Amino acid sequence: MTDQATSSPQPRPGPMRIAPYVGGKASVGGVNRVVKLSSNENPYGASPAAIAAFKEAGDTLALYPDGGATALREAIGEAEGLDPARIVCGAGSDEILSLLCLAYAGPEDEVMHSAHGFLMYRLSALGVGADPVSIPEQNLTADIDAMIAAAGERTKIVFLANPNNPTGTMIPDSEVRRLRDGLPAHTLLVLDAAYAEYVDDPDYDSGARLVEEREDVVMTRTFSKIHGLAALRLGWGYGPASVVDALNRVRGPFNVSAPALAAGAQSIADDAFIEQARSGNAVERARVAAALEAMGFPVTPSQGNFVLTEFGIDGPRSAESADTFLQKRGILIRRMESYGLPAHLRISIGTAEENGLLIAALEDFVAA
Ligand SMILES: *Cc1c(COP(=O)(O)O)cnc(C)c1O
Repeated sequence: MTDQATSSPQPRPGPMRIAPYVGGKASVGGVNRVVKLSSNENPYGASPAAIAAFKEAGDTLALYPDGGATALREAIGEAEGLDPARIVCGAGSDEILSLLCLAYAGPEDEVMHSAHGFLMYRLSALGVGADPVSIPEQNLTADIDAMIAAAGERTKIVFLANPNNPTGTMIPDSEVRRLRDGLPAHTLLVLDAAYAEYVDDPDYDSGARLVEEREDVVMTRTFSKIHGLAALRLGWGYGPASVVDALNRVRGPFNVSAPALAAGAQSIADDAFIEQARSGNAVERARVAAALEAMGFPVTPSQGNFVLTEFGIDGPRSAESADTFLQKRGILIRRMESYGLPAHLRISIGTAEENGLLIAALEDFVAA
């Protein structure tokens, strides 16, 4: 008989290299009201039409959802001017990112991302046994030349969040195209446009046009941010027929729930709700950034619904001290150690009232 340790089931080595994802805090003890600015959620809630559709879906919970997500794909196509046949829906865009790794990468392969890119890229790569490769950035922005230089035979996927979370920085369309042209033909470029709706820089493109022009680019989108449906887990990918086909093979046949399908189809068509969330964010993002700068905390220019701001490493003005101070006031923001940015904090943009509480608390922090 072999010994117990080797005869018991063992996970593959890749998954065991994953440090489990730690999300933003949702609660804190001893305060009456929590202001949650830690997970880039929509502070204005969700579209009333989407909430109504979600409730109505409660009447048919015994039935399996439409595994092809036909109505939702058509609604997305209509709202975004895209071809529904090139759309694949998932349980959050996180699922699409994982499925891309499952379909396109494995042991011996490399999955590239920029140094302060979204953490899920590394985790999804490890999950399939591939090696994540982190490319240093310039000024907290993806370094296109360095990414092109590092890509080779083993590079199966390059993930680029645009705008990026947690830095908020954006790569102009011309640079995204230069990246694609510089990558090997066998490499799939995945443009994660989770914050596309918040961008106001005219040089930006979500990547949809590039997807339609080529066979080697995928764009991913989410209902968790501007649509305010993070709890439902809904996202989608837009890609060439070959990628859509591969994703449809590896996904679960009913990977998106019926309430999510119903709510998503209403939300994507609710222009008024989306515009209010976008403009509210634009005004408040500028206000929060200006207040932080005025207090002496540099802010990385952001195109998302959050700002990355620099505190100190230690001492009274450190990121840790600020976080502790804010928590006592019930204000939750995101520490950045896991992104290799221990002096920084990421602050989601809340409602005008929430941001007022944040700014007032930080003013007290600076004066203390
Ligand atoms: C929030 C976020 C997502 C979306 O995740 P979901 O799984 O759709 O909730 C994807 N990419 C980035 C960069 C994000 O910040």
